Amino acid sequence: METVQNEKGESTRGESTRGQISIHTENIFPIIKKFLYSDHEIFLRELVSNAVDATQKLRQLASFGEFGGELGDLKVTVSLNEEAKTITVSDNGIGMTADEIKKYINQIAFSGASDFLEKYKDKTDDKGAIIGHFGLGFYSAFMVAEQVEIVTKSYREDAESARWVCDGSTEFELTTADRAERGTDIILHIAPDSEEFIDKGRLRSILDKYARFLPTPVEFDGETINNTTPIWTKSPSDLTDEDYKSFYRELYPMGEEPLFWIHLNVDYPFNLTGILYFPRIKNELRFQREKIQLYSRQVFITDEVKDVVPDFLMMLHGVIDSPDIPLNVSRSFLQADSNVKKINGYITRKVADKLADLFNADRKGFEEKFDDIGLFIKYGILSDEKFWEKAKNFVLLKNTENVYATLDEYREKIQANQTDKNEKLVMLYTTDRKQQDAYIASAVRRGYDVLLMDNVIDPHFINALEYKLEKVHFVRVDADTLDKLIDKGLNNEAVLSEDERTKLKEVFEQVLDSKSLTVSVEAQPVDELPVTITMPEFMRRMKDMSALSGEQSFYGNLPNNYNVVVNANHPLIGKIIAETDADAQKTLVKQTYDLALLAQNMLTGADLTAFVHRTVAAL
Ligand code: ADP
Repeated sequence: METVQNEKGESTRGESTRGQISIHTENIFPIIKKFLYSDHEIFLRELVSNAVDATQKLRQLASFGEFGGELGDLKVTVSLNEEAKTITVSDNGIGMTADEIKKYINQIAFSGASDFLEKYKDKTDDKGAIIGHFGLGFYSAFMVAEQVEIVTKSYREDAESARWVCDGSTEFELTTADRAERGTDIILHIAPDSEEFIDKGRLRSILDKYARFLPTPVEFDGETINNTTPIWTKSPSDLTDEDYKSFYRELYPMGEEPLFWIHLNVDYPFNLTGILYFPRIKNELRFQREKIQLYSRQVFITDEVKDVVPDFLMMLHGVIDSPDIPLNVSRSFLQADSNVKKINGYITRKVADKLADLFNADRKGFEEKFDDIGLFIKYGILSDEKFWEKAKNFVLLKNTENVYATLDEYREKIQANQTDKNEKLVMLYTTDRKQQDAYIASAVRRGYDVLLMDNVIDPHFINALEYKLEKVHFVRVDADTLDKLIDKGLNNEAVLSEDERTKLKEVFEQVLDSKSLTVSVEAQPVDELPVTITMPEFMRRMKDMSALSGEQSFYGNLPNNYNVVVNANHPLIGKIIAETDADAQKTLVKQTYDLALLAQNMLTGADLTAFVHRTVAAL
């Protein structure tokens, strides 16, 4: 379709009109000032970053012969004058000419950094050294200052120094100055509502937070406050274990020594460096978050890495540095940012690879660490399909004998023990070694393996495994009798007649008299207890889950439903059947039932007292 342009630069196309929205700086300036950053302390990060940039630019110019003078000790100095109520950020970097001030400072959002990179794009491949990007950072000074002054002298030999003053309106004054040294002073005259920043301690803590690893020395109060070459900027081959450990101590002075670490280093399709440490986590889901710090070109951005790092990796500690993560953006932007998504995937992959390496290189060492990293691996398996794809080869199951096995190894091991190969494989587990000891002991006696699943995450992990592995079913050792669970083909000989069984069931039902108990009579091995109490796996799991989530639910509100399994083959049960005295029979039933409760740690209070008295009386 043909478009026609009129003299105002608008083009008309049939009925519609196209044109340029004009922005008046008077309107937008207060908005920038107010909403640029929610946190006003950021002004210092921005100004110090600019100053560092100015020194880095000069270093670069020198490196490709554009600057032949003395670099000297490139540094940035932050100073506070409490009486004058000023904060000054000084550098001995490239400085600015009056023309450059007009171009870079007076035109908001015309970023000098982008301009610099554009101009020297063929000469430098170290674009990462320059922080600025947006052409807005400088104006964050007006969040705290009622007047901002720039006194600057460019590195160019013939340059005159210049002074720029602005009170936060769109008016400014630009004059010549009498500064002799190359570099820039940014002087902030702090506004009355921001006097909290006229405080040495406050400034020091802001600098410690944001400037701790900037690449040019930053001085404050007579001290250099930063480490200009943090180890993540170095090559892993130049670093020793001790370097990694001491950097960890630098980051977390109170922390326990980390288990191991991963040095991240990628330059395509995005730039990212960093070190992630695996801390000891044990059985603790309330682990400390916000332990990963996010940097962009060594400038601290945030320790809320929620959207950049997959949730399960938030248990890790360390730093991530990526110039591709925007500095001043909102949460929602981060979530949608495609770089951030790629970074997420990359980190997950790297972490999985590192764990696989550890597992393959040193199985024993991996097993020793597993109690500390198991929670983390399981959490990863639950939350990330790609992580599962790798982790399924190294995640370990541990049995009550403290023997570890991979999923494949374990399946093979118990398959050999289970008669019907087509049925689902039954994996027995315990959530509490002590409480379920009687059941564990009986399973082990019969040659079965029992897995230890006593970690907070294990109920979820079990569900995930059943879903992911085909034909595997987890049952707690006390979910049913072993004959029902596994030994389907065993067929213990029944010593009681049909009539006797029915009678036995009636006697138990009568004596126990509870609607939440189901009595069944089974022919179990003689060495099992006369009475066993079980709770169906499904019901128990539903109850556990609803207890875990803390929500009221259908299952949570159901009464506990127990099966009372009477072992028809046990001599004591034979005695109950043969007993003709009703009272004596009742006592025997009670006694065997209480013993079952006792074995499960379920006998408490008045019932326990009554049991003790009954037992004493019978002695
Ligand atoms: P950005 O840093 O994102 O480019 P700023 O608003 O922070 O945007 O700064 C605009 C420009 O002003 C910078 O790119 C740089 O060219 C110039 N500038 C700011 N501070 C300094 C300084 N201390 N020394 C030299 N140039 C500076």
